[in-house]
Amino acid sequence: MAVPKKKTSKAKKNMRRSHDALTATGLSTCSKCGAPKRSHRVCLECGDYNGRQVLKTTEA
Ligand SMILES: [Zn+2]
Repeated sequence: MAVPKKKTSKAKKNMRRSHDALTATGLSTCSKCGAPKRSHRVCLECGDYNGRQVLKTTEA
């Protein structure tokens, strides 16, 4: 098995990890009720997706 010759320094490790940060997922607003929702997901407030009612909601 290949084994590294030298221990990776903190600086090298941190340089490698400088691109590993996660970014926040895109948050859009529902076109029907205006509540914030994740893109490509059903709106949990009104159950609407792409102008179509796909979920039963308790109110309205
Ligand atoms: Zn909605």
